Amino acid sequence: MEMKQQIKIWNVDSKSDDKKVKVATIEQQDETEKYVPFCDNCSAPCCGDVVRPILTEIEFLEKKFPVYFFPLPAMMKKEGINADFLAAIPNIHDKCMYFDLKNRRCKIHNDRPKSCRSYDCRQDVRLIDFLKNRFSTK
Ligand code: SF4
Repeated sequence: MEMKQQIKIWNVDSKSDDKKVKVATIEQQDETEKYVPFCDNCSAPCCGDVVRPILTEIEFLEKKFPVYFFPLPAMMKKEGINADFLAAIPNIHDKCMYFDLKNRRCKIHNDRPKSCRSYDCRQDVRLIDFLKNRFSTK
C-alpha cells in the first residue's frame, strides 16, 4: 500500500488554542506476531531511540492511547500530505512513554499500537543507520 493511501486526515481541536488543526493517522498492514521470538533477545533500540508510533484511525478516534501532535515531517509535506501533525504516542525523555528503561521492554506489549505490531525492525534502514552510527568507532 502506498503511503498516501494509508493516511487519513482529521480536523480536530488544537491543543493550544481554539483553532482546528489537521491531524493524520496512518493505517497499518495486518499485524503479525512472527517477530516475537526475535524480540526476546533485543535491546529495543527502536522503541527506545528511533521509532515514534503513529496511531491508526481507530486507535485515534476511540482514544485508545494518549496522543501527541507530532509536527508533520518535511518529507511527508513534499509528498503532498495535507496535514499539520501526525497522531503519535507521546515520548518521555525522548523515548516512547511505554518503554520501560530499566528492563528495556514495552510496558504494554500485549496491547501495543498497531504500528508497533506490524513493524519489522530488520527492514528499517533508519534503524540500521542509527545502529551503525552508535557503534561506529570513528
Ligand atoms: S508502545 Fe511499546 S512497542 Fe510501541 S514503541 Fe512504545 S515501547 Fe515500543
